[in-house]
Amino acid sequence: MNKKIFNAIWIVAIVVFLASLIFIMGVSYNYFSGVQLKQLKTEAELASQGVSMSRLDYLNSLEAKDYRITWIDADGTVLFDNAINANEMENHMEREEIKEALADGYGESVRYSNTLSDKQLYSAIRLSDGSVIRLSSVQMAVWTLLMGFAQPICFVILIALALSFVLASRLTKRILTPINSIDPDDPLQHINEEEYKEIVPLLRRIQFQNEQLKRDQKEIEKAALIRQEFTANVSHELKTPLHAISGYAELLENEMVKEVDIKPFAGKIREESTRMTKLVEDIIDLTRLDNGGVDMKWEKCDIYRIAENAIDSLEVVASSLDVTVSIQGSDAPSLGVPQLLYSIIYNLCDNAIKYNHAGGSVEVTVQPKKYETIIIVKDTGIGISEESLERIFERFYRVDKSRSKEVGGTGLGLSIVKHAVMIHNGKIEVKSKVGEGTEMIVSIPNKQE
Ligand code: ADP
Repeated sequence: MNKKIFNAIWIVAIVVFLASLIFIMGVSYNYFSGVQLKQLKTEAELASQGVSMSRLDYLNSLEAKDYRITWIDADGTVLFDNAINANEMENHMEREEIKEALADGYGESVRYSNTLSDKQLYSAIRLSDGSVIRLSSVQMAVWTLLMGFAQPICFVILIALALSFVLASRLTKRILTPINSIDPDDPLQHINEEEYKEIVPLLRRIQFQNEQLKRDQKEIEKAALIRQEFTANVSHELKTPLHAISGYAELLENEMVKEVDIKPFAGKIREESTRMTKLVEDIIDLTRLDNGGVDMKWEKCDIYRIAENAIDSLEVVASSLDVTVSIQGSDAPSLGVPQLLYSIIYNLCDNAIKYNHAGGSVEVTVQPKKYETIIIVKDTGIGISEESLERIFERFYRVDKSRSKEVGGTGLGLSIVKHAVMIHNGKIEVKSKVGEGTEMIVSIPNKQE
């Protein structure tokens, strides 16, 4: 970066310098050509006076080395030329400067001469007898000018190179010093200083990204903590039934159980293993939901029909606890993940049956609306206290642990419901009164295909 900026400044300085030099040379060349032409005119005027007075004698006595002098008669015949024999020269009537001089008294032109190969400047003056005296000289070539300037130009180039070098290194330093001294942890430190004015947007962006990083870091830490807690809880929840099973098995193995108690013991072992199976199933479901449900298939389905199926599966449990379950509403076609929608309704109904009284009831309502489908699961059960309401969606949270265990709860049902609703971009709301019952209201948006 240092080298790049330095080179850029250095190259720009050199290019600007060379461009100025070429421009100045061009302007100087034009200026000197003008001066040369003016000088030629003065010389021509002097010569015209000389010829007017002494005619050929004057011309013959001239020792002009830098000029070519030609005397042309009014009809174009060359009377004298100090470079070429006048008799051999063609009629000059058609030469531009002669034509002009004959017409206006004075004429000039710049062109390649016919007889000499250089670019020539011509200046012609008409005398009182109608003849014309013409002076010409070779125009200064660009390289001649350059050669004349060579020494000072070289000197200026050297100075310019040295100056550009010093300037480029100082500028590079000035640009880079503020950037290098930015503290990434506190980028706004120098925000009010003059040198940092241009990079304020960059500083603000660094600050913004710092804050974002901190937020992300906090979220990652929080997620790690939740995972840690979850793992600890899972181990604990799995250990309890495992200990019970191994305890019963040990008693059976050591023949410490009376013949009549063998059956109830086997029943307890089966009960505990069923609890474990349910726990493992719930954990698997939750882990899949934690991944955002990416591997789940969205399909066209009818929420009312799904609710009917869930209720059918729970019929045996409901009647064993003497709870009646009913459904009302109408067909609710929707786009969603059928297993998740089933899981939502199944878990809500399961809770409504489990935490109910004998003779109680559960009422499921499926209401298709314009933009969403509302699912209501209302029970006449034990209800949930206000302080517990906030926590029931937490993993492994149970209001009454022993009651939950008694009815085969894992403490994960509502966490699964919450996640499944979230994946459908839906909402869940709970209304409950202790001793009166609970109402769970879920809204699932009608996702467009
Ligand atoms: P569990 O497997 O223990 O039922 P959930 O996550 O489904 O776990 O529910 C968490 C807790 O919320 C339950 O242990 C219970 O105390 C309470 N709960 C859930 N639904 C109801 C309900 N309909 N009526 C009363 N309490 C409920």
